[in-house]
Amino acid sequence: MKLSEITKVYGNGSLQVPVLHGIDLAVEDGEFIAIMGPSGSGKSTLMNIIGFLDYPTTGTFELNGENISSAKEKQLAKLRNEHIGFVFQQFFLLPRLNAQKNVEAPLIYAGVPKRERMERAKQMLEKVGLGDRVKHLPNQLSGGQKQRVAIARALVNNPTLILADEPTGALDSKTSAQIMDLLVQLNKEGKTVIIVTHEEEIAAYTDRIITLKDGKIIDDRRTSL
Ligand code: ADP
Ligand code: ADP
Repeated sequence: MKLSEITKVYGNGSLQVPVLHGIDLAVEDGEFIAIMGPSGSGKSTLMNIIGFLDYPTTGTFELNGENISSAKEKQLAKLRNEHIGFVFQQFFLLPRLNAQKNVEAPLIYAGVPKRERMERAKQMLEKVGLGDRVKHLPNQLSGGQKQRVAIARALVNNPTLILADEPTGALDSKTSAQIMDLLVQLNKEGKTVIIVTHEEEIAAYTDRIITLKDGKIIDDRRTSL
C-alpha cells in the first residue's frame, strides 16, 4: 500500500483541527511495523486512514497499484472486510456473547453459514491458544485471553493486514510479551502487521519503527536484529 501526501483535518468552518500534514508511507506485504509518537501526534488517525475507517482530507492512497482515494464507502467497507483485521487496546468484545460467538461475529456479516462459522471460530480460538475457552464469556477471561479472542476475531476473515491500536496497552508486561509473540507468529505466517504503541519494548518486536510528531513522520527506521 502506498500513501502519498496524506493530510487530515477534522471539523469544519472555524473549528478546523489539522492533524496529519503530508504523510508519505509505503508498506510492503509482510511487513511488521510499529507506529510511535506522543499522544495527539496523529497515530490513531493514521491507523484509521490505513484501515479505511476514515477518509484523508487530501492525498492519495494506492492499494495493489490501484488508486482508491475516491472509492465510495461501500467499496471501502468491502476492502475492510476482506483484507483487514482490527485489534484495539480495550478489546471491544461483546459482553453477552461467549468467545466463540464473538469470533463468529464478522462471519455473520460476511454471510458465512452457521456450521462453517462455528468451525472457523473454533479453529481461530485454537490458533491463538484458547481452544479450551470457547464457551467462556469475556468477563470469565483474563485481559490477555480477551485480547486473544479479539485477535482470533480479527483473523477469522483471513485478512492480509492486521491493524492493532495499542494492543498491549491494557496488559501487564508478561501478558504483553505473549500477545507480541502471537503477533510475531502471525507476521511470520505472512500477515502484514501494523501496531501503534507507546512502548519501546513493544516496538522492538517489530521490523520497522515509524515515529510521528505533530502529524508528520519524523523517523522511519529498520530495527536491527
Ligand atoms: P494519537 O493516536 O497519536 O494520540 P490521534 O490521531 O488520536 O492521536 O489524535 C490526533 C489529534 O486529532 C488530537 O489532537 C485529537 O484531539 C484530534 N482528533 C482526533 N479525532 C478527532 C475528531 N474526530 N475530531 C476532532 N479532532 C480529533
Ligand atoms: P485511542 O488511541 O484513543 O486509545 P482506541 O484504541 O480507543 O483509540 O481506538 C482507536 C480508533 O479506532 C479510534 O479512533 C476509534 O474511533 C476507532 N474505534 C474504536 N473502536 C472501534 C470499533 N469497534 N470499530 C471501529 N472503529 C473503532
